[in-house]
Amino acid sequence: MKDITKLSSEDMEHVELIVLDVDGVLVPRGTIIEQSGNRTMFETKKIRESEIEYIKKMHEAGYKINISSGRSLFMLMDMFREVLPFVSLTYENGSATWNKGLVVQHTNRFSEIEDVRKQLIKIVDKRIKGWEPKEFIITIHTTSRINAIEKIVDLFPDMQCIWNGEAYDIMHKSQTKANGISHLRDMLELNSNEVLAIGDNYNDKDMLDVVDLAISADCDRVGGDYYVPMPAGVMMWKILDVSKEKKDENI
Ligand SMILES: [Mg+2]
Repeated sequence: MKDITKLSSEDMEHVELIVLDVDGVLVPRGTIIEQSGNRTMFETKKIRESEIEYIKKMHEAGYKINISSGRSLFMLMDMFREVLPFVSLTYENGSATWNKGLVVQHTNRFSEIEDVRKQLIKIVDKRIKGWEPKEFIITIHTTSRINAIEKIVDLFPDMQCIWNGEAYDIMHKSQTKANGISHLRDMLELNSNEVLAIGDNYNDKDMLDVVDLAISADCDRVGGDYYVPMPAGVMMWKILDVSKEKKDENI
């Protein structure tokens, strides 16, 4: 993997769409969540002003911007409020995409998710911090891995369970960021070589495999063509820098 400072204008030549993961890329990993009975409390993280400015500049430079996260839509809308007019949001691990108020669902696995949920809800374990409110997938925050959760998901061969160090994302095998991005790419009528994506975690792996230019924000967890440390502002700065070079060359 090459350092992001080596990114060149040739690398960016065909790129039209830039896909940004959120946690571990734009904000530090870790969700504070507390649940007692029917009351759930969790913290919404703020994207730094400098990163929001970079997103605006990338839009002005002519790139389409997509945010792809395991988070829910309402949280992402809150976090990216300032740039919503020109940013699409692919949420809950490629389950659906919001674009200028229009929601397109990439796969519908309601009944399968319900079957697993009915089993998981029976688990009583002090290590469970809370269930994050989600529409299409199940996210259970825990203090450590819980065997009972993994065993239940194992009983459903079409389901997957991703432990990311702080929570389990439980969903159908078709609910992937790769699936979401592939559909979005078709919707935008783009080719595979026109997409750059950055991610840091196990749920980004499939997405980074299907794009032409993959950037890892954690080389211990995912591979890519380039590596950038978190926060990814440096990457956005570099993209703008080489895009400017490209424009200058064309003058
Ligand atoms: Mg992440």
